[in-house]
Amino acid sequence: MSKQKFTIKEISSKSILQKSGLPDVDWVINPYGGCRFGCKYCYAAFVGKFRHPDEEWGNYVDIKTNAPELLKAELTKKLKKSSDIGTIFLSSVTDPYQGLEAKYQLTKKCLQVLLDFNYQGKVSILTKSTLVTRDIQLFKQFHNIEVGLTITSTGDPIAEYLETYAAPHQSRLTALAELSQAGISTYTFVGPLLPHFVWQEGQMKKLLQAIKAAGAKYVYVEHLNLTPTIKKRLFEFLEKDHPELLEKFTQSTQPEYRDKLDKIIHQLLKELQLPLAHEQVLYHRNLKKS
Ligand code: SF4
Repeated sequence: MSKQKFTIKEISSKSILQKSGLPDVDWVINPYGGCRFGCKYCYAAFVGKFRHPDEEWGNYVDIKTNAPELLKAELTKKLKKSSDIGTIFLSSVTDPYQGLEAKYQLTKKCLQVLLDFNYQGKVSILTKSTLVTRDIQLFKQFHNIEVGLTITSTGDPIAEYLETYAAPHQSRLTALAELSQAGISTYTFVGPLLPHFVWQEGQMKKLLQAIKAAGAKYVYVEHLNLTPTIKKRLFEFLEKDHPELLEKFTQSTQPEYRDKLDKIIHQLLKELQLPLAHEQVLYHRNLKKS
């Protein structure tokens, strides 16, 4: 992450409930533009380029201050038929519980709007932030909600370097356990599988065991997706700070690499009796909405 200054801008958004092309998801809500966590592998880093051409991903966040009011209006306008009701996901190109949520509470307010609307579909949340436990009482009021934590290691320093300003992995596991113990249906997103970590003997097992112990009902597991834009940004960081890892990350693009890793993951999950979403390790380029 460069030492540019961090900019926060309050903006008025034109739309907040957007149709999604993601598998398992019908609608997405992104209460913020940009993401302070600034993960170095983030697939969403290109999204802000239009509004923020000269700023590094992670160094700006747009606050969509009208998000709750807009959501209220769009729920009525966009969900006219029962077939429009589906899974609403927070969030696809930002983290809904990044630090600024403590002040602006846009995610919380959007969830309250969904409750007031008596939304009948499923709500799915995914975050790397421990702030998510703040809303446990709110989650309990939904009849169909699941809350996920993205966790890619058990505290490996390079994994945490790659997830620049996100909460440490151990505290994400603690948040996951707190949510599960409160009776919230939880899951974990283990992705991307980080090539420097996944081959360390016993480490993947330790991670999946910890996720199971924290009460996750199932896991999504995803391979690293090195599109040209993701690769360019990620490799700039690695070249500078961890050049010894470049070869490992490059190898991860090979189908043989993924096949071998898939077998290991399947075996570990079978041993742990931890269900795998879609019964496969996801690879972004093969994903299709069912
Ligand atoms: S938390 Fe998610 S959206 Fe935010 S930078 Fe990391 S990968 Fe991107």
